[in-house]
Amino acid sequence: MNKYSALSKNELQSEIEKLEKRYNGYKEQKLKLDMTRGKPCSQQLDMSTEMLEIPAKELRKAADGTDTFNYGVLDGLPEAKALFAEMLEVDKSEIIIGGNSSLNLMYDAVGRAMSLGILGGTPWSKLDKVRFLCPSPGYDRHFAICELFGIEMVIVDMKPDGPDMDTVEKLVSEDDSIKGIWCVPKYSNPDGITYSDQVVDRMAALKPKAKDFRIFWDNAYCVHHLSDKPDSLKNILAACKSAGNENMVYMFSSTSKISFPGAGISMMAASAENLNSIRKSMTIQTIGHDKINQLRHVKYFKDIDGISAHMKKHADILKPKFDLVLEILETELGGKDIASWNKPNGGYFVSLNTLDNCAKEVEKLSLDAGVVLTKAGATYPYGKDPRDRNIRIAPTMPPAEELKKAIEILCISVQLVSAKKMLAAM
Ligand code: PMP
Repeated sequence: MNKYSALSKNELQSEIEKLEKRYNGYKEQKLKLDMTRGKPCSQQLDMSTEMLEIPAKELRKAADGTDTFNYGVLDGLPEAKALFAEMLEVDKSEIIIGGNSSLNLMYDAVGRAMSLGILGGTPWSKLDKVRFLCPSPGYDRHFAICELFGIEMVIVDMKPDGPDMDTVEKLVSEDDSIKGIWCVPKYSNPDGITYSDQVVDRMAALKPKAKDFRIFWDNAYCVHHLSDKPDSLKNILAACKSAGNENMVYMFSSTSKISFPGAGISMMAASAENLNSIRKSMTIQTIGHDKINQLRHVKYFKDIDGISAHMKKHADILKPKFDLVLEILETELGGKDIASWNKPNGGYFVSLNTLDNCAKEVEKLSLDAGVVLTKAGATYPYGKDPRDRNIRIAPTMPPAEELKKAIEILCISVQLVSAKKMLAAM
């Protein structure tokens, strides 16, 4: 197919007619297809059922004799720390095990900084202005935390190897109201990008004007590979230590998309000084998290090889779905110069960019044909995509047949909106 920009008025008109026929064909089917959130499909969840079948008597005693059925152990069983320290490639002393959600740990980290300050710094809530850098497109729930606390968000562009570090370095070194940056460094949500070693090194070597600046390193997709040749991500905590900046990063992750979303294990890794300070307020907040679930995860996975083998089974289910999406995108949109997309090696999303000022219309058109997409704009701070072009595709949850229809409808909508815009401009 030729580029749309090379088509004559007549050619565009006949293209629109053909697309409308296909679109109406789908519309008549009165479909209801939900493509909104990146959730595992039920086949993936089934894979972890065995974990719930471990007998209670095997979950009662931790390795050090702790009775998991009773109160106690603030920041995680030693065997849970050992397992997830391996996953995050940190030392056992550099990790805290949380509850069922890493988002909760991130919210708490921001909330603590707002109300109590970080390592003796002024509580952020007492400052005139607090700002966060938000590499975008990014994860809407990160942005929602900032919005709730009144933290001003500054968009930083994403490049193929991570955030635009020239901008990050400049802003962070000049402005002490910039207190944080949100990063999803591996198979990023939604771009599927893994930060390059150079980006990690530059991130670790930042010289922030604010002493209480923190990198919120949300490694949610650290073991979520789709390929036999997975991306590798340089260890930020080690890089920060080498750069003399060991307090500058908070790392987060969870098993939400390894075992059970909402019933997994979350974790946070950081320097000893950061963790000691966090434990002081954590001990007021809770007597301890769910040790039975921690032991369940340890008994089931055993070690990092157990996690890797389990994630390989996830990939066997997910890879065909991602391939299907990419195949349809290529067939429908390839060569037309009206959209671009990533081909991720892992994670949960495919990020589609339309021509500028088209995403909202595409979302509406798809919805009218029965496909609910993640809200256009949701991948940007305040829900406002300045170029109105990014659409997050979440292929994991729907069965292949539904996914196929949904992506076809999305692609027809992209073509229709682009063609009509071009025709109107002729
Ligand atoms: N971070 C990212 C980047 C995510 O995509 C998600 C889930 N969509 C989360 C965190 C949420 O993780 P949890 O279930 O551990 O709160």
